[in-house]
Amino acid sequence: MKNIHSDSSNFEAIKYQQCVVNLDSATIKIHEISCKNLEDVLGGFGRAYRILSERNVDTAYSKNNPLIVSTGLLTGTSIMTGLRTYFSSYSPLKTSNKGLPGAMWSAASGKFGSKLRWCGIDEIIFEGRSESPVILHVKQNDDGAVINLIPAEQYIRLSCHEKIIALRNKFDDCHFAVIGEAGENYENCYFGAIGCSTENLMKSDDDKCRWAGRGGMGSIMGYKNILGIIADSRDPKNKLNKQIKELNKFITTGPGSRKYREIKKGGLGGTWSNYEPLGKLNIVPENNFRPPAKNNAKLMLREHIENDFLVKAENCYRCAIACHKNIYEKDIDGSRGKFLAKFDYEPLNLLSTNIGIHDASKAADLISICDKYGMDSISLGVTIAYVLDYNVRNPKATILNGAQFGDFDKVRDLIIDTGKGQCHFIGLGVKRLSESLQQTNFAMHVKGLELPSYLPETNPGYLWAIAGGHMSMQTYGLLAADGNTSIDYWVEAIVDKGLYMVRDDLTGICKFANLDNKRLVDGIEQLTEITISESEIRETVRNAFIRGLWLERKQGFDNTDYVLPDDVYDRPNSNLKTASFITIEFIEELKQRVSKYFDIEVDKICV
Ligand code: SF4
Repeated sequence: MKNIHSDSSNFEAIKYQQCVVNLDSATIKIHEISCKNLEDVLGGFGRAYRILSERNVDTAYSKNNPLIVSTGLLTGTSIMTGLRTYFSSYSPLKTSNKGLPGAMWSAASGKFGSKLRWCGIDEIIFEGRSESPVILHVKQNDDGAVINLIPAEQYIRLSCHEKIIALRNKFDDCHFAVIGEAGENYENCYFGAIGCSTENLMKSDDDKCRWAGRGGMGSIMGYKNILGIIADSRDPKNKLNKQIKELNKFITTGPGSRKYREIKKGGLGGTWSNYEPLGKLNIVPENNFRPPAKNNAKLMLREHIENDFLVKAENCYRCAIACHKNIYEKDIDGSRGKFLAKFDYEPLNLLSTNIGIHDASKAADLISICDKYGMDSISLGVTIAYVLDYNVRNPKATILNGAQFGDFDKVRDLIIDTGKGQCHFIGLGVKRLSESLQQTNFAMHVKGLELPSYLPETNPGYLWAIAGGHMSMQTYGLLAADGNTSIDYWVEAIVDKGLYMVRDDLTGICKFANLDNKRLVDGIEQLTEITISESEIRETVRNAFIRGLWLERKQGFDNTDYVLPDDVYDRPNSNLKTASFITIEFIEELKQRVSKYFDIEVDKICV
């Protein structure tokens, strides 16, 4: 058994397989790399950020900006939800006020990551840029993976779904990571996403990817002229031991995954269920994060929508949490009809309630178009909400097609234009659009990344999220849950709790498993024979997060970047039923106190 406790560390004995694809020369090398520390051992964004920290990149679309495809230590193992793939690079979207790109990662489940690991590859680094469109084919072989670049002209302008289906018809029993038209049109769309195939998609022919959406990693892939990656391996026939069976049962039935399970399985019904508690407090984003007194959030409650549509909980490979709440037409006899879209809280809210649309059928249409072109629904929805808000505030000088809140047809046109790369006003994201129009006060972003579906009035922790507001700082639901507005509470929430939510952006399991550290280290030992203590896990996660803050400092992010939209202070919304506590003074004190902790740590690990 390998023991890597810090008193007897032997990281070098633990190795991983790294594939470096030089797109300029079309050469591919596979290296066996010894781990240097626990971040390397766990994998995910931690390992990728170490690579990014060694690069000087001043433009996201430049040949020296790598795209790193990583797996975690548990990706492809028998732990339930061990399916994650991470895509990391300097982002075209996350940008400091000095104009430098920020490091980012985004993650997806599905089955692509597992298949990649079963090929014998843990990490792919794409360097340079291909002259013509290519697809990387990674194939399992007895003597190690066989990896080739194949020409991909015939896949241009296919949607993510169409690319996957076309590839599936040619490459049997494989899984795929692909971009859509948005990523191909990277110059005019900075929030292209990467779609990872699921078994359900393969079997049903429905558009059911899992998305690595945040930060424009699909646009980076488009810049590099990589249309897709094929992971070509056979599924291993692993027998689960008693401990792993019990662990998986706990993941499926325990408190961590409760929110995401169906009600009949003791759950709350998925992320969509946020509509109810947040709606009661009138803090579901509406009309560009400014809910009016008349609460329209209830119109999108699941119970309401189930009158007319069929909702089916579906899942990634072997995951019994089944968090995908897929919406189907309901036929006259009540049976399941055509698949429409997946309703998660963020895409649903930002492409319906927050743009003044309160109709499930229209919301499903907009979500499916967003998916079709392969865009991040958060960045897209928030930038469109800004356009609609701008048009309300500037009635005599409206922009684009003059769309207003609730204007479904015009919004639909804007989404299609953006996906096709024909609307760079929206495609470059809300930071750039608002700066070009010199009206930044109602642009809902922090550090260039559009906000997820939680009002900035409820979450000062957004400032320290290193890779998107609800994926890398777990403070977004705290005001609704605890109602605490004291500065001590928020300092602790950020520096001592919130940052640990990035743990599973290292390990390879899904955040929705919400496994406690004790069970996680037991699982790691069972599945990999690597012994890590709970405190080492915490320290490693913290180090990886701090490195993320250091990378922000390296790329010029300073006090002027760590700000909430001005409207939070200048136009308080009295319709919210939560305590109003975010003032300029509160944020300034919070920044000083949080910085005291983080600055010391940044200085310590990143000299
Ligand atoms: S919880 Fe959801 S996203 Fe995560 S592995 Fe399971 S089905 Fe996939």
